Amino acid sequence: MKISMISEHASPLAALGGVDAGGQNVHVAALSTALARRGHFVTVYTRRDAPDLPAKVRVQPRLEVVHVDAGPAAHVPKDELLPFMEALADGVVRDWGRTPPDIVHGHFWMSGIAALNAARRDPSGFRVPVVQTFHALGTVKRRHQGADDTSPAERRFLEPSVGRSVDRIIATCSDEVFELKAMGIDSGKVSIAPCGVDLDLFSGTGPVDSRPRRHRILSVGRLVPRKGVDLVIRALAHLKEAGFDDVELLIVGGGEAAGNQDPEARRLLDLARNLGVADQVELRGQVSREEMPAIFRSADAVACTPWYEPFGIVPLEAMACGVPVVAAAVGGLTDSVVNHGTGLHVPPRDPEAIADALAALLASPELRDKLGRAGERRAKARFSWSRIAAETEKSYQLAIAETATATATSLPMEGAAL
Ligand code: UDP
Repeated sequence: MKISMISEHASPLAALGGVDAGGQNVHVAALSTALARRGHFVTVYTRRDAPDLPAKVRVQPRLEVVHVDAGPAAHVPKDELLPFMEALADGVVRDWGRTPPDIVHGHFWMSGIAALNAARRDPSGFRVPVVQTFHALGTVKRRHQGADDTSPAERRFLEPSVGRSVDRIIATCSDEVFELKAMGIDSGKVSIAPCGVDLDLFSGTGPVDSRPRRHRILSVGRLVPRKGVDLVIRALAHLKEAGFDDVELLIVGGGEAAGNQDPEARRLLDLARNLGVADQVELRGQVSREEMPAIFRSADAVACTPWYEPFGIVPLEAMACGVPVVAAAVGGLTDSVVNHGTGLHVPPRDPEAIADALAALLASPELRDKLGRAGERRAKARFSWSRIAAETEKSYQLAIAETATATATSLPMEGAAL
């Protein structure tokens, strides 16, 4: 198959951990790589966000990234990219030339707009089938972030409209299917394919980062309030009161200068200072993917305590490295982390519950070991990217077959009066 991925803000080639660079970048890169390995020809279209980027980058056989000129050749926050979606679609169609792909797959609602726009422009009248992965939904974001949601106002009606117009939707977790249904989208065209984890990179064996204290709790992700890192700092203070004082909280993510310039980093450090645990907290800033496994392996527990989470790749990486996860029971985390199986669920936004779960793990090497090993097994059995690519391929085949049927039934029958 010839596959076009559109990922307007999340380039598979970007460094991770910044405000707008996280799971979607990993997802698009890994899924595209796995599909190319299965013999498909994959092109990822993303917006040029720096002047010196080459027009095309060949990543591996059958996989290339195309930087499309759409808006300024500079970083633009993802919530300000809507005006450039038409230019993005223009660049995609230009690159297709006379040979449109078999399928176009939009990532995030704005890319869905560009995908639909491009798919409808084939001069032969053929409409390229469109598959959509939302990664995050505006309804959920609004519910949790309220006035702090910086999404453009148009998202309220454009996102459901993308959902209604595309041929198929790949939801990353069961919770998303309910949200889509509540948006008025026909669940008959929704399949679930979770995110995967790179099992060659993330495993239980290999180098281990050194740690300065007896216990280490790890938090990994973009430094944005909704990831709930402040809740883990509060939990650290509860743990200290409960007698677990030789514990370090390592926070990975944020911009390169996470220590001093990042406002969220400053907020977290202030909080730690006010709670008297500043000497137990390290903000390491952005870390490359290659360095991540050793850091995961060095932790007694990984805390993933977001307010909400469309999927969450970090818990899968932790599980693949054999580390138990304390997970807020929200969104994709309820699918990926098995309560008392591969980690412990806690109610959202509840530092005391986080502290209790962490205390149970820190107190028992046996429990850590049991949950960690089960996590490693589960990650291998269920979340390899090759398996996710095979599931994604099924959605593509369905979309192609359904579009072909729809086109055939809309054509006049041979011999019928026109
Ligand atoms: N990540 C990384 N370096 C960092 C911070 C994060 O490589 O400094 C990676 C992390 O390992 C994971 C991804 O970024 O693969 C974050 O994905 P997740 O789905 O957990 O969160 P999102 O960013 O999508 O909200």
